[in-house]
Amino acid sequence: MAEIRKDLLRDNWVVIATSRAVRPTDLPVPSQGRAEKVQGFCPFCEGNEGFTPPEIMVNRKPGTAENGPGWTIRTIPNKYTAFSLQTEFATGVNGIYSYMTGFGAHEVIIETPEHDVELHQQPAEKIAEVFEMLKRRHLDLAKNEKIKYIQTYKNKGLFAGASLGHSHMQIVALPYVPDELKGLRTYAQTIGNCLICDMLKQDIRDPARLVLESENFIVMCPYAARFAYETWIVPKKHALNFGDITEEQIPELAGLIKKVLAAMVDLLNDPSYNLVINTSPVNVENGPETHWFIEIFPRLIVQAGLEIATGYYMNLISPEWAAETLKEKISQISG
Ligand SMILES: [Zn+2]
Ligand SMILES: [Zn+2]
Repeated sequence: MAEIRKDLLRDNWVVIATSRAVRPTDLPVPSQGRAEKVQGFCPFCEGNEGFTPPEIMVNRKPGTAENGPGWTIRTIPNKYTAFSLQTEFATGVNGIYSYMTGFGAHEVIIETPEHDVELHQQPAEKIAEVFEMLKRRHLDLAKNEKIKYIQTYKNKGLFAGASLGHSHMQIVALPYVPDELKGLRTYAQTIGNCLICDMLKQDIRDPARLVLESENFIVMCPYAARFAYETWIVPKKHALNFGDITEEQIPELAGLIKKVLAAMVDLLNDPSYNLVINTSPVNVENGPETHWFIEIFPRLIVQAGLEIATGYYMNLISPEWAAETLKEKISQISG
């Protein structure tokens, strides 16, 4: 049995299996969460700072020298990128084809000097330190008025696109706003409300997909989840930008991220996953506004022909079932 559900956010459709015929352990790629060191070497490990570009922003122990050991979190430019702030932003047309130059920033946030510690294994205070750094980078990049959109994300494991096993996140800052969340704009223009606020209202009333609730955040599996166990962490109060997160909210968010990731890792046998922060554009007057939120999606199945050709995702674990099992796992782990 399946239900084809409308993904309001992306203005698309998702095929959701509503039966429980497929167990999570039946999925073809249950694991492979870790990328190994390439020939035993890792440029993100402490002591190898000389193998990366110079640091942009860093938390380091007093008395330690720049670009040397002694740091706790380190932000550097991504060496392998198409974007540079030194490139002039321009657009052009060539017959029926159009293009833009690669103006933008691409940074890597190395979360820890230790090679083998994953984000969820860190104490919540350390995860909070990582998210404080992400906020500082967001605000700093937004100071450049040419930057219109800041995308923060994490690729963990081979099937999520991570080429290095050392735990890190990335930020891309762009001079234009991507079209990915166009459903939010359409909803606001036609209904007049924030789609995310309306989703929260309905899902709190009918809590089949709720996983956790804290003072300021809701953890839920969305109605039209594209990925099995896709989970969102959403601020309860309407807030446009991730950069607006308060100092008090960061430790609360860090605690939730630790719980959700630890439950996923335990339940799904250390899966590859992506974590992305969706946020409103910056430096745009009356731009398409978003209610910022975090999406986490385990990459249990390599997306293939159907998704690439039609844009339709197929999800074999219903979000209601995913929410139920995640909730159970979280209470087991914390209890
Ligand atoms: Zn390393
Ligand atoms: Zn809202």
